[in-house]
Amino acid sequence: MAKRDYYEVLGVQKNATQEEIKKAYRKLAVANHPDRNPGDKAAEERFKEATEAYEVLGDEEKRKNYDQFGFAGVEGQTGGYSRAYTDFSDLFSGGFGSIFENLFNGGFSHGGFSGSGGFGGFGSSGARESSGQSIRVNTEVELSQIAEDFQKEVTYNHEVVCEACGGTGSKDKSNARKTCPTCGGRGQVQQGQSFFSFIRTCPTCGGQGTIIENPCPKCGGSGTTRKKQIIKVKIPAGIESGMDIIIPKMGNAGPNKAAPGDLYLRVLVKRDKYFVRDGANLYLQIPISITQAALGLDIYVETLTGKKVKVGVPEGISSGKVVRIKGQGLPRYKSSAVGDLYIKFRVETPKKLSAEARRLMKALSEEMGEDENPRPETLADE
Ligand SMILES: [Zn+2]
Ligand SMILES: [Zn+2]
Repeated sequence: MAKRDYYEVLGVQKNATQEEIKKAYRKLAVANHPDRNPGDKAAEERFKEATEAYEVLGDEEKRKNYDQFGFAGVEGQTGGYSRAYTDFSDLFSGGFGSIFENLFNGGFSHGGFSGSGGFGGFGSSGARESSGQSIRVNTEVELSQIAEDFQKEVTYNHEVVCEACGGTGSKDKSNARKTCPTCGGRGQVQQGQSFFSFIRTCPTCGGQGTIIENPCPKCGGSGTTRKKQIIKVKIPAGIESGMDIIIPKMGNAGPNKAAPGDLYLRVLVKRDKYFVRDGANLYLQIPISITQAALGLDIYVETLTGKKVKVGVPEGISSGKVVRIKGQGLPRYKSSAVGDLYIKFRVETPKKLSAEARRLMKALSEEMGEDENPRPETLADE
């Protein structure tokens, strides 16, 4: 089934405010929540659909990507619900939790995954895991840039091992721990309102039940600090918009010096002003005059890489005819093959004629013995 537009799902206008989006989602979530509609698959589907829509539209950055690139712009950044819902104890520990934080201001505290700057943590919450969290960063490239492999500089923020404590989170060498005051050592807390009540991992101790006795003042006991990172990444020629390049161990450092997660660099290819892309093939439209169409001519067309190729426009070409130029498309992703360039010619009828041009046109019409009353022809050959 084709996915419905997120605005349509929430029943809000394209220019809806965050307040309107939140309100629309809250209404749908309450009406269709699985706890209220046990066994009702359709309601569950509506709940999931609305949740996914809200995950995107409720986040200005994701919403921007969605507005600009459609589903491709936010692919893989949603679905926290379906992922988490299979394991109820884990229901609100993943990306989905953040939604309810926004929605109910429930006072959840997260370990620094605010999602600013095209940046969001994903996967299940890292606190109880032995490795750091993987993160996703979006990067935009021009269509012309992917005509060949190129190096892109990417700036992003991630969690790195705290220099002050070396990742232990402790101010002193003893690393002494005490029982967590939030959960009393259970590692879990009950949270939420009415039927949205659920058990989640304790945000204070991350499920460990204990916290550092004397936390490091630099990192507050987490063992990691936020750092701006600039990396150079090779973007392969012909990459499709929405594909991820995975850079191992460049995600967030984990607690207690755990191995860092990976960086998922999502490449978003911008629309070009003239070239339209379909895989490795490129499409271009060029207007020509009626005399050029009748007489034919050679033109020079600038390709995506700026190279000029000679293209013969055949005599008597009709409007809408397409000429294929072999091998002037994009390289096919991870292949040595190259796509083609298709040029569609649009014959443009002059809108304003000078007196002299009008006289010549009339003379031409007479010379050609044109039928004064054009008759229909079959559409079947179009
Ligand atoms: Zn520290
Ligand atoms: Zn706790």
